[in-house]
This record gives sequence, structure tokens and C-alpha cells, in this order.
Amino acid sequence: MPHILFLMSDTGGGHRAASRAIEAALQEKHPGQFTSQLVDMWKEYTPFPFNTMPQTYSRWVNFSPDTYSANFWLGERVFQQRAWSRLYCQQMYPRLKNLYTDYPADIIVCVHSVFVRPAVYALRKARINKPFITVITDYAWPTVLWYDTHVDRCLVPTEPAYRRGLTLGLKPSQMVLTGAPVHPKFTRVTLTKEQAREQLGWKKDVPIVMLVGGGDGMGPLVSTARAIDAQPAHCELVVIAGRNAALKSMLESIAWKRPTHIYGFVDNMQVFMRAADLLITKAGPATITEAALVGLPMVLSGAIKYQETPNAEYVVHHKAGVYAPGPKRAARTVTNLLANGGHALQELADGVRALAQPDAIWKIADEIWKYS
Ligand code: UDP
Repeated sequence: MPHILFLMSDTGGGHRAASRAIEAALQEKHPGQFTSQLVDMWKEYTPFPFNTMPQTYSRWVNFSPDTYSANFWLGERVFQQRAWSRLYCQQMYPRLKNLYTDYPADIIVCVHSVFVRPAVYALRKARINKPFITVITDYAWPTVLWYDTHVDRCLVPTEPAYRRGLTLGLKPSQMVLTGAPVHPKFTRVTLTKEQAREQLGWKKDVPIVMLVGGGDGMGPLVSTARAIDAQPAHCELVVIAGRNAALKSMLESIAWKRPTHIYGFVDNMQVFMRAADLLITKAGPATITEAALVGLPMVLSGAIKYQETPNAEYVVHHKAGVYAPGPKRAARTVTNLLANGGHALQELADGVRALAQPDAIWKIADEIWKYS
């Protein structure tokens, strides 16, 4: 029975979500025929202070977005140079050399950009002949680190991501344009909007605007929700704080002008997305992919510079959402979209459906299973 190892990290919610999505799809297609395990690479295979990344990542991005983005920008350039990339892998090697004895596996699936190259390097250096598959979880313009020419397969989410792979030296035979990984539960939401609202205890006759900041409640969710609350738009608000307990308490302490439902981490996002009329979110790839499948139009109220801004451009280009960075712009956009009976919102709903890739997760599962 093949054992599949997922290299991921709880920096944000997207990497875990992708791993769980792939596991779920494989489980449906091949029940009981494999085992699997997730390993948090930042936490287990990097030294202090890097091993605290799962806890510090969202704080870093929230409190000093410019230093995070500068770091990303720099890495993007540095690691295009073969010599630097090799040095980076060599630096990581003393820790990663034990990875495949700590976690013996028959198939290795990497869903985190930072670890693709060092993990491939460690595999080759140890002369372990096991398939290594990259599943890119960034969306429109994945960073250079995602691409390693020695992988067995690189599964990419979008056309631009595929083209980028070609320019970075991957062969067409190595890459498959599968679409982005998303949990199968988003591909078959059969509930009507009314049924979803009944499940959640929301009113059925009022537009619902839902705010999400990824798995960790990132970005200025409080000021964005307040700015929307101050608008004349006829709607109720739903704010999902994710794993950010401090944010949840802060949201709960506010005297909202309109009915506002606050949640912590929810594990039935597909029901929330089906019940809502409009999503306000940062340009996180998993959230965008899920909203597209459920047909929920989005206002992208923020994007991590360089890492997520290409996603925002991609969504706008496909007329699936509006990029309105900052609380005030996002709030004004909500009012405009809900005006005139929501005509503009309907147009976005058509665009967002065109972005959906319902087959993606099954294609990803099939590609991985070929190595079983
Ligand atoms: N998510 C969830 N429950 C929550 C908040 C978020 O399941 O309460 C999931 C969301 O559905 C998505 C992931 O967390 O799958 C967020 O990933 P994304 O790439 O959008 O942003 P990240 O958190 O990685 O920055």
C-alpha cells in the first residue's frame, strides 16, 4: 500500500487545505488503498527562529507587509540564479537529510514553494529513488522556488503558471496543467442558497456580505468590516476570523450598526460560500479557487505584494471580481455592487463561474496515483 508524504506548513491555511483536498480526492477514488501523512516543514526542519513561522507568518505579513514583500521580491530574483539556489539547498541539507528516514514514503508531494528545491536536493543526494511531485498552490504567477527541473511531475494551476515553468526550464512532459487543488466538497455543493442559510441560521431575504482573511484572519478585517458597516448598503455582514482568536474577540466587542455574524475557524466553508452573496477577501489562492467553484463573486480588498497581487490581476482579468485594496475602497465597492438590484454583482457571478475548475482536484489525484 503506497504511503504518500505531503510536505506543507501551517503558514496560512492554504497548504494544509491543499494537502487535505488531495487526500480526500484520493480517498474517494481509491478508498483504503493508501496511507498518508502531512509534515510541517518550517516547524520540523528549520532552525530557530524560522521554525516559528507557522505562528509568526501572519503577524509578519499583518504588521510589516513591506518587509515581507521585499523579502519575497528579493528571493524571487536571488533564486533564479543557479548558484544561489544550490547554496540554499546545501544550507538546508543538514536538517533535511533525515526527512526521508524520519518519514519514509513511496510518493512525495510538495505543496509549499520554499521546500521544493531543498527536498528534491535531499532526495537526490541520498539517492532515494522515489517519485517527487510538486502541486503548486500559488495561483497566477507562482514564485520561482516552486519550479525544480528534477521533479517527476509539476502540477500547475493556471496557464501563466504553466508558461512560467517553461521559461524556468521545466519540460512540457514534466508539467500538467491540472488547475488548482481544492477540496472535493466545493465541487458538489448541492444546497440552494436558502437551504445553506437555514443551516447557518441567517435571514433569507437580505444580501449577505462575507469577509474572510485566509485561515489566520489576516489583513485589516476589522477596519474593512467597519467601513462596510458605515455604508448605506442594505446588507448583513458575516466576518470569519479563522484561527485568529484575538481578532474574533475584537470583532465581538464592536457595536455594529447592522446585524453582523462573527465566526472563528469554520470547517464548512462551502456552506458559508453558498449562503453568501458577496465575498470580501485578500487574494489568497485557495479562497479564490473555492469561491470560483461555488460561484461566489469577490471583492479583493487586499493582496500580499508580489505574492498575491498577480492573483488579483488574474481575477479582475477574468471579470470574476473587483480589486479594491483598502477598507474604504472595498466598502464603496460593496455599495456599488449591491446598488440597482445587484445588477453588477450578477455580471461578476457569471465571470466567477468561468474561472471554476471542477475537474482540477480529480486530475491532480490521478496524476499522483500514476506513481502508486
Ligand atoms: N479557511 C477555512 N476556515 C476558516 C478560514 C479559512 O477552512 O475559517 C480555509 C479557506 O477555505 C482556504 C484556506 O483556509 O481553504 C485559506 O487559504 P488561502 O490560500 O486563501 O489563504 P492563506 O490562509 O493560505 O493565506
